Amino acid sequence: MYSDERVEAFRRRLASQGQRVTPQRLAIYKYLIEAETHPSAEEIHRALQPIYPSMSPATVYKTLELLVEMGLATELAFGDSPNRYDGNPHEHVNLVCTECGSIVDLEESLLEELRERVVRASRFLVRSQRHEFHGVCPRCQNAKGA
Ligand SMILES: [Zn+2]
Ligand SMILES: [Zn+2]
Repeated sequence: MYSDERVEAFRRRLASQGQRVTPQRLAIYKYLIEAETHPSAEEIHRALQPIYPSMSPATVYKTLELLVEMGLATELAFGDSPNRYDGNPHEHVNLVCTECGSIVDLEESLLEELRERVVRASRFLVRSQRHEFHGVCPRCQNAKGA
């Protein structure tokens, strides 16, 4: 789905839940899905503040919280570093670089098969699945001459 359609779907859901529809909230969601960097709240605030000078960090945090509640975003926690946010609605693997902190999506068709196998083996009712690989990205490997 294109980002504009997804932002429009978010707008409609806000309205139907009696939540305030503001340009700032919509811009935060649009940034999240277009950036593909799995941004932190701080990164989103830094990027949008020049466009929306009155946007506070609290607005960003609250909007992200709302997106997570609505199932439109996933919160990724990493110990003592700031939480990152994932707006990719497709099942995928997050490749997390422990050197530079980049997070890159990898679509992997095996994830569906993996889920089916897990369900068969466990009779667990799966609502969602998350996959995270931690390591060193190609750029950081090159930088180290590894
Ligand atoms: Zn890296
Ligand atoms: Zn992701």
